[in-house]
Amino acid sequence: MDHFNYQDGVLHAEDVSLADIAAEVGTPFYVYSTATLTRHYQVFEEALSGMVHLICYAMKANSNLAVIKLLGDLGAGMDVVSGGEYMRAKAAGIPGERIVFSGVGKTRDEMQLALEGGIRQFNVESEPELYQLDKVAQALGKVAPITIRVNPDVDAKTHAKIATGKSENKFGIPIARAVEVYREAAAMPGIEIVGVDVHIGSQLTDLAPYEAAYKLVADLVAQLRSEGITIRRIDLGGGLGIPYVRDNQAPPLPRDYGEIVRRTVGDLGCEIEIEPGRLIAGNAGLLVAETIYVKQGEGRQFLILDAAMNDLIRPAMYDAWHDIVPVIEPAPGVEQTRYDVVGPVCESGDTFAKERVMPPVAAGELVAFRSAGAYGAVMSSEYNSRPMIPEVLVNGDHFAVVRPRPTFDEMLGRDTLPYWMS
Ligand SMILES: *Cc1c(COP(=O)(O)O)cnc(C)c1O
Repeated sequence: MDHFNYQDGVLHAEDVSLADIAAEVGTPFYVYSTATLTRHYQVFEEALSGMVHLICYAMKANSNLAVIKLLGDLGAGMDVVSGGEYMRAKAAGIPGERIVFSGVGKTRDEMQLALEGGIRQFNVESEPELYQLDKVAQALGKVAPITIRVNPDVDAKTHAKIATGKSENKFGIPIARAVEVYREAAAMPGIEIVGVDVHIGSQLTDLAPYEAAYKLVADLVAQLRSEGITIRRIDLGGGLGIPYVRDNQAPPLPRDYGEIVRRTVGDLGCEIEIEPGRLIAGNAGLLVAETIYVKQGEGRQFLILDAAMNDLIRPAMYDAWHDIVPVIEPAPGVEQTRYDVVGPVCESGDTFAKERVMPPVAAGELVAFRSAGAYGAVMSSEYNSRPMIPEVLVNGDHFAVVRPRPTFDEMLGRDTLPYWMS
């Protein structure tokens, strides 16, 4: 559910007309809804109610400071995967004890940054990382709280680029080797074991892989405890899919996910952590673009937009399907047409949709991509020297730009000439 609906014939974000935002900030732009972000956070709170838990929003999905501050103020923790994300979380006022640090390639500097600034736990993904962290912590006279991310070798049945729980993926330590690595960790003076971590992938549309993975985690916890290793937290990762409105496929509900958590690991006396990203931010955001031209091709029509693959790379990168709707509500019963929806970048990959059946749109008219709040703005670039597009946050009947569009001068000003050129 989201808060993007037609009112008086114009698509609104909550109570703000997207046409009004476009007139003020120009196109293209991202727009996020406070009410939707809040609601998605609360849906997870409800799903885990009755269990001691912390929702650590995976901020790689959308790390705008305003978005993470909004979630942090609701009580969310953060799952960070880089020093930069850690700094963003701190800048948004998230206390270190609510920040977990994930990722396969944490550097010494990142470890030091988090140990000095405060951290809830590192989710350790390999033995070399464990040794490194022990060394860094000892050198600082600190003890690093850790979980070990185990790889359960479970098929998440999602897109290959975002599946992470199979043995061929680079993530985690094979669950069969976990006990051995926990024993090593238990002997390290710079390490304190606090729990177990697992994350099997993103955009999961089936709950069965979760159930299989979480059962294996529960078995592991029992085994670790029998060896005298204290496990007080279980981090279950993120990855719950969202509807991208195609074929009316209905992904699982957080409530049903919560039932699986309860059933598999709910009675171990552990604090439960989850790391949802996409489900919180995805349907809380739109990308709004203007049509530059409608071009008649050989047997096709191209809708050429002022947004491109550098602004929203998901279709090019993951073959993602985004619903594309006109901002001015189509007249009832209007005959649909068929477009290849493309951007201006000089690559055939700069195609958002092929043969998309949708209401007719004319040059100068606005369209909105739904479900663009996660892995949209954060994955954008200035390829083709197209300045980063602005992000806007709506709250009720008002809005604010939460990341402005740089001017050409600002964009060029980031390059410097070497001293030997005058
Ligand atoms: C990407 C990621 C997540 C979030 O995945 P979503 O599909 O956005 O929910 C959570 N945990 C880890 C470790 C991740 O890498």
